[in-house]
Amino acid sequence: DAYLAAIDAANEKLNAYVAVTADKARQMAGASDARIAKGEAGALEGIPLGIKDLFATEGVHTQAASHILDGFKPRYESTVTANLWADGAVMLGKLNMDEFAMGSSNETSYYGPVVNPWRAEGSNADLVPGGSSGGSAAAVAAWLCAGATATDTGGSIRQPAAFTGTVGIKPTYGRCSRWGTVAFASSLDQAGPIARDVRDAAILLKSMASVDPKDTTSVDRPVPDYEAAVGQSIKGLKIGIPREYRVDGMPQEIEALWQKGVDWMRDAGAEIVEISLPHTKYALPAYYIVAPAEASSNLARYDGVRYGLRMTGKDITDMYEKTRAAGFGDEVKRRIMIGTYVLSAGYYDAYYLRAQKVRTLIKRDFEQVFEKGVDAILTPATPSAAFGVADQDMAADPVKMYLNDIFTVTVNMAGLPGIAVPAGLDARGLPLGLQLIGRPFDEETLFRTGHVIE
Ligand code: GLN
Repeated sequence: DAYLAAIDAANEKLNAYVAVTADKARQMAGASDARIAKGEAGALEGIPLGIKDLFATEGVHTQAASHILDGFKPRYESTVTANLWADGAVMLGKLNMDEFAMGSSNETSYYGPVVNPWRAEGSNADLVPGGSSGGSAAAVAAWLCAGATATDTGGSIRQPAAFTGTVGIKPTYGRCSRWGTVAFASSLDQAGPIARDVRDAAILLKSMASVDPKDTTSVDRPVPDYEAAVGQSIKGLKIGIPREYRVDGMPQEIEALWQKGVDWMRDAGAEIVEISLPHTKYALPAYYIVAPAEASSNLARYDGVRYGLRMTGKDITDMYEKTRAAGFGDEVKRRIMIGTYVLSAGYYDAYYLRAQKVRTLIKRDFEQVFEKGVDAILTPATPSAAFGVADQDMAADPVKMYLNDIFTVTVNMAGLPGIAVPAGLDARGLPLGLQLIGRPFDEETLFRTGHVIE
């Protein structure tokens, strides 16, 4: 009831929830009470969570913040949310996001932008919460839920976490099932939690993760007790600092924050080593070929026949065209056009195939570093703190928006786990985050090292 009242009071301003499921929440909480009374409480019994609108929730609003999925209420539950409910968690509602998870500011949503609960000192201007999981990050930061589900294709968990002073982890590709999660770029998409602190993120990920016969890319490995890693010493761990992440024009305060992170690691007994990831600079351009290519294919299913919105047309082709023209927003259309172009005959070898090769090189860069005994890699999470809603520069040039992902996309391209942890404030009093990148399926080291920073 306290969370529902908080949502009531703040959501009009923040726009974090696109649907509040109050009746369902009370019903689930009642069932939790009964299980607690019987001594059968699950690991998340009664914990109220917000769910990103990308996860299919049975009988409940699921639109990926798109007009084209108008009125869509799936008859099935995503594996990730089913896992959470099986452990006793309670659903408060569905959270706003960039349309189909495409964006870095939560401004591409059909439901309008999410407002970051943080303000710069002495200013009343609205700031973005980051994206695409902007609703998840804002809701957690403003106490409109105890934790949230999110997804990360190129930074969408870690960048909003950094912009809102919350913790977000993108686990290894394959750790969480993608079944029932609206697909953006299937070879990159991963679910993960956004939480108030590292311990909460560890508890939530344990529940979300599973092998699932319905997603053949989910991996059959036991899910460790992540919480046990929180608070463990990092003495003797080798932390890599990648030279190539010192990008031109990096603001001084990001550089200083990174250095502070290095000092904290060293003070806690870790060994700091400089490393090289030589193909880093190709990650962003390669990502913006691979992700739109997969998106253009995944979004072909929204044809006005099977789901959501249907416009009337004089024949079926006309109906498709009118539905897709009305149903998709500008950024989604841009991705479909880029994706279709890079996959087309004559351009496939020059763009898509080449981007896939670059992806292999990026993956190898990381493998070589980990083979040399590096346990985790420390980088900034974002090149800046949160920026203003309707930022003119970003609106005029989509590439400026894409640059937000410069430190995060490499992790998705290589399929590795990455965590963003709040590490300090910028000169205007806005949160900044650091990122730790780990070996495949070694989320535990990220929880250990991340806890030292938070
Ligand atoms: N900002 C990136 C994009 O727009 C990443 C999005 C994501 O991780 N879902 O593609």
